[in-house]
Amino acid sequence: MAEFTMELNDEQREVRDWLHGFAADVIRPAAAEWDEREETPWPVIQEAAKVGIYSLDFYAQQYFDATGLGIPMAMEELFWGDAGIALSIVGTGLAAVGVLANGTEEQIGTWIPQMYGDPTDVKVAAFCSSEPDAGSDVASLRTRAVYDEAKDEWVINGTKTWATNGGIANVHVVVASVDPELGSKGHASFIVPPGTPGLSQGQKFKKHGIRASHTAEVVLDHVRVPGSCLLGGKEKLDERLARAREKAKAAGGERVKNAAMATFEASRPAVGAMAVGTARAAYEVALDYARTREQFGRAIIDNQGVAFQLADMRTQIDAARLLVWRASWMAVNGKPFTAAEGSMSKLFASETAKKVTAQAIQILGGNGYTREYPVERMHRDSAIYTIFEGTSEIQRLVIARTLAGMPIR
Ligand SMILES: Cc1cc2nc3c(=O)[nH]c(=O)nc-3n(C[C@H](O)[C@H](O)[C@H](O)COP(=O)(O)OP(=O)(O)OC[C@H]3O[C@@H](n4cnc5c(N)ncnc54)[C@H](O)[C@@H]3O)c2cc1C
Repeated sequence: MAEFTMELNDEQREVRDWLHGFAADVIRPAAAEWDEREETPWPVIQEAAKVGIYSLDFYAQQYFDATGLGIPMAMEELFWGDAGIALSIVGTGLAAVGVLANGTEEQIGTWIPQMYGDPTDVKVAAFCSSEPDAGSDVASLRTRAVYDEAKDEWVINGTKTWATNGGIANVHVVVASVDPELGSKGHASFIVPPGTPGLSQGQKFKKHGIRASHTAEVVLDHVRVPGSCLLGGKEKLDERLARAREKAKAAGGERVKNAAMATFEASRPAVGAMAVGTARAAYEVALDYARTREQFGRAIIDNQGVAFQLADMRTQIDAARLLVWRASWMAVNGKPFTAAEGSMSKLFASETAKKVTAQAIQILGGNGYTREYPVERMHRDSAIYTIFEGTSEIQRLVIARTLAGMPIR
């Protein structure tokens, strides 16, 4: 187990500086254009693939960094560049983690390379869990997967929504119910391979922020996938379902509920780190502006009303980063989240990003309100952090129930 440290080692500092250089030289200059275009920035993803940032190897290295600081450091730098473009670069990782966490070695080896493609032909992947009637309440998802034993195939029907890269992905990872009576315990994840008939993109959403990231509905109409596409395999699923049925029987047949999504506890610090990146970016723009903009014959930072805002912004960003790093270290080192520290980090960092980016607009005055300056975009982008991977209300629910010793799922 690695001791908790707030000091990046030499290797981590080198990686951070390299990522920062890419964020400053490639991502940030492209941010306004792709935000206006509201399209996936394929050329930027390709650049990231060429230098090795868009690859499983890179994420695996950060993911398995025992200090826990690899992923938050990487997320902060990329999202400092631009949230929409960074999400287009790291979105595939969400689907890849789904396969890494639940897949067999063969599934990992077969599907993850197809999620990323290669630098001459980059691909993206999508993780499809949310549905129109199953957002925070993931247990109530309606997409069904039924096993056709004669053909050793699964038949999937349903509609997914809010899928990052949905419909444009080479590989889709789809969460479906194989036993609705068991609620979330009856869920399983499936690979939908490239070009599978029956999978189509529904509505593409026009969004408030992170507009360079593609978000869409995914329609599954009698999608047939081979038995080998069930992540983890049938034997493991059957064992898990049998255990869940025993438990449900002991609980009087009550349907298992999961309104709080505690399972995401370990991945939430990464979203917190994205929020820290956006907040830091807006703070830096505001600090620079406050030092150079003059009114009443002096720099506006010489007014306590402005300087105190900057002091609060910086304090909250640093506090958010500390919570994120702590939770990330806990996740990597298998520390139990006895006070829902993963949710705490995401809650605080995401709320901080919304607040700090709004303050940055205020400090830039009229300029802050225009698209000539990046803080307007950063503020729009920041609103996503309190919504995806569990809303702020759901984080509070998880923290409160954990503190109260109440069951979360
Ligand atoms: C841009 C974007 C990208 C996304 N990417 C993905 C993706 O790649 N894959 C994927 O599967 N999903 C994705 N999502 C979905 C996201 O995770 C959901 O939007 C989120 O979980 C909230 O669900 P909902 O939108 O249905 O809101 P709802 O669950 O309907 O919530 C609406 C409001 O009610 C509140 N609320 C709900 N239940 C409670 C409660 N018990 N107590 C208190 N308040 C409550 C919520 O906090 C919220 O304020 C994405 C969403 C967006 C916007």
